[in-house]
Amino acid sequence: MNRRSLLHALAAAPLIGSPSAGGYVHPRKVLLWECTRKEFREAIEEGGLRVVILPTGSTEQHNEHLAMIHDTASAVFLAQQAALRLYPQAMVATPVPVGISPHWMDRKGTLTLRKETFLAVVFEICESLKAHGVRAVLILNGHGGNEAPLKESLPEFRRRLGIRLEAHSYWEAYTPEIARKFLASGKIPAHAAEFETSFALAAFPERVHWEGVDYEKVKARLGIKDPRSAREDEEFAREARLASAAKGEGLIGIALEWLVARIQQIIAETFRS
Ligand SMILES: [Zn+2]
Repeated sequence: MNRRSLLHALAAAPLIGSPSAGGYVHPRKVLLWECTRKEFREAIEEGGLRVVILPTGSTEQHNEHLAMIHDTASAVFLAQQAALRLYPQAMVATPVPVGISPHWMDRKGTLTLRKETFLAVVFEICESLKAHGVRAVLILNGHGGNEAPLKESLPEFRRRLGIRLEAHSYWEAYTPEIARKFLASGKIPAHAAEFETSFALAAFPERVHWEGVDYEKVKARLGIKDPRSAREDEEFAREARLASAAKGEGLIGIALEWLVARIQQIIAETFRS
């Protein structure tokens, strides 16, 4: 899949909820990479665009049954849904689809960036947005390995950019009580287990591939060197079987409410008249 069709596939998400502005808004309108320069210019100059959401994710192994783009796709999915709710106040920037994943390199297919490379890409996208007049950016992260580096870099990024900048992993929306209420395993985010599989079943079931999966048969051939990591891999494969679309829908709804409220708060604090 080339980058263009990847981005197209990431955007082909069903619509949840309706934009606060009322009426129909085509899902493309909140995706920077699908807009024309005219549309973006008008949005920033007179259309009321306040916050740009920058999704960060990964391209990495998600056990035997989930697509490797899962983390990126889930962050884009939530960002797009939130932007539609807040239209025309929010837009989604082109996602960073490869993250910091050296810990999964012993599973085939994982792509990883060095921490400095990933952070430089994130920073320069924010810098580009600033150059076009964007005054607030919310980095919405969907991959655990990116979380600490993003949070650590925030003070320096803010200093160098001079714009309102926030970074959250979307699972910050979930308390331990919510995790226990919705999931038999009680684990969020874990990895390609009950939570992420439920999310995928609700948001993009075409990225869940159980066909031909027989973990027991293949596990000896996986070649995971660290015994703790191998045990966890097996545990997550087992827990993934507990997933359902209904669990995913409930949890997506909670993350969406949280994200919309967070963006509204950023708008209120940044654009006081
Ligand atoms: Zn993941």
